[in-house]
This record gives sequence, C-alpha cells and structure tokens, in this order.
Amino acid sequence: MAQIIDGKTIAANVRHTISQKVAGYKEKPGLAVILVGEDPASKVYVGLKEKDSLEIGFYSEVHRLPENASQNEVLELINSLNENEKIHGLLVQLPLPKHLNTDVIINTISPLKDVDGITYFNSGKLFSGRPFFVPCTPKGVMMLIESTGEKVEGKNAVVIGRSNIVGKPMAMLLMQKNATVTVCHSKTKNLDQIAVQADILVSAIGKYKFVKENMVKKGAIVIDVGTNKDENGKLKGDVDFDAVKDKASFITPVPGGVGPMTRAMLMQNTFEAYIYQKGLQKA
Ligand code: NAP
Repeated sequence: MAQIIDGKTIAANVRHTISQKVAGYKEKPGLAVILVGEDPASKVYVGLKEKDSLEIGFYSEVHRLPENASQNEVLELINSLNENEKIHGLLVQLPLPKHLNTDVIINTISPLKDVDGITYFNSGKLFSGRPFFVPCTPKGVMMLIESTGEKVEGKNAVVIGRSNIVGKPMAMLLMQKNATVTVCHSKTKNLDQIAVQADILVSAIGKYKFVKENMVKKGAIVIDVGTNKDENGKLKGDVDFDAVKDKASFITPVPGGVGPMTRAMLMQNTFEAYIYQKGLQKA
C-alpha cells in the first residue's frame, strides 16, 4: 500500500509559516482578485482565495465585474491595481467570458504582481530556467514530491496534460530538477506504455479514472492533479485511486492532495511578491 501524500497537512504548514511571518509586518501583503461574470465554479474559487487571504493575515480585494464588462474596463482595473501600492499580488480568475481577450488581459498584469505565474514574462522566465513566479499548481506538486524524500534527479517523469497553467510548467519544473520528462496529451499514441515507465507520474487532464493500474510502474510516485465528479457528484481525481494505491510507493488523494497545495502556493507567491516589492530579504 502506497504512502498517502497528505497535501492538506503540508498546505496547512505552509500557511502557518506564512501567517507567522506576516504577523511581524506592519503593512500586510495584499492580494487582489478580479472576477468577471457569474461562472459558479469561479465564484467558489474566488471566495476561497479571499478566505485564505484573510485567514493568513493578508489584505484582500475582490473586484467583481458583470458578465458584459468590456475589455477596456478590465484593462483599466488591472492598470489601476498594477499601480496600487497596497496590492502586491494580482490575478484574474479564468475562464473569462468569450468576448474578452484572455491573452491581452493576462499580459496586462504587471509581471511583478503576476502571482499565478502565467504572463509571458513569467512563462519565459520559467522556460529559461530562471523562474520568478511559478504557477501555483505545479509549484505545489513539486513540494508534494519533495515531501516524499525521494530524489527527482535521474528519474523518469511522465506528465499527462500540456496546458499552460499545469502540464507545461510541471514538465519544466521536473526538468529543472534533472528528471527525464515525457509530456503526453490527447494525441499521444500508446500512452499506457509511456506512463508505465514513469518513476514519477503526474496526471493533469480532467478525466475520472483515466489512470488505471496497468499504467503505473510498481513503486512510482503518483500525483493526481485532476478534479472530476463521480456518478454521485463526489470530487475525484484522474487516477483510479483504489486500484493504483497498492502499486505506487506514494500517491496523492483527491480531495486532500494537490488542491490544498494550489491554494497554499497562491499565498506563498503573494508573500514572495510582497517581499520582492518591499525589497525585504527572502525569509
Ligand atoms: P486543460 O487546459 O483542459 O488541459 C487538459 C490537458 O489534458 C490537455 O493538454 C489535453 O490534451 C489533455 N488530455 C485531455 N484528454 C486526454 C486524454 N484522453 N489523453 C491524454 N491527454 C488528454 O486542463 P488543466 O487546466 O491543465 O487542468 C487539468 C485538470 O487538473 C482538470 O481536471 C482541472 O480541473 C485540474 N486542476 C486541478 C487543480 C488543483 O488545484 N487540484 C488546479 C488546476 C487544474 P490536448 O492538449 O491534446 O488537448
């Protein structure tokens, strides 16, 4: 039976460490979130970000714009938050309504406040091996992998999924730690045979029970990023947990694995943005 990687506890420790440091600062790190429209899932995520910020001792602003907000309205708001000294981290909740240009909007965020790590500047920094802000989910996954005490160097890592926010940055981070990385996607042939070679297998696609027992090497570290609902509406990952847990050496559960880490890494990035902008020493 694999050891369960307890993302909830690791994330709580990260938050606790940050909150202790923040308590010592007179001016608080500030996180602003922009939500456009009424997407129910986005509303929940934004609510959680606000809750996390306040609990940790940050200053928090949430800007809720109507579904029909214009591109200019969104850009003006971003520009004003870029200039706002109380705000150190700024993110726009995705997806945006279809009439808005996501690329332009994201890249209007100051790279120094881009705590989601998704502007071209921060993607480029990561790609060139000099990361500044790293997207929260892959950053959290690296911490979960490190928590196993296993070395990444020299391992075969397989990442399933190639999105800009999860799969691609995940592959970059693993490569920087000297893993040999293969990225799979919807056009990959013989994916099962590639996955089963992985010492570290990260699934980030969004398909319930996609990763089956035959796709997992004995002793592998299995990280499940996916979030799906099962037939009873319960939150589940991409990995067939019950079938895989006896084969892996370490495995993340869903819920309680990657999800809490993603939230904690947003707090971590906001804290780092504050430290950087204030010219303070990284603690
Ligand atoms: P995304 O943008 O939809 O990307 C999904 C990726 O999976 C794509 O690269 C796609 O390939 C690939 N894919 C889809 N079906 C596949 C198949 N049958 N075989 C192989 N590859 C396949 O999603 P995302 O934003 O990266 O998120 C991925 C999952 O992680 C979702 O379930 C999301 O909800 C979850 N997530 C969780 C957290 C968390 O904190 N727990 C954070 C972020 C995301 P193509 O590129 O070829 O289309």
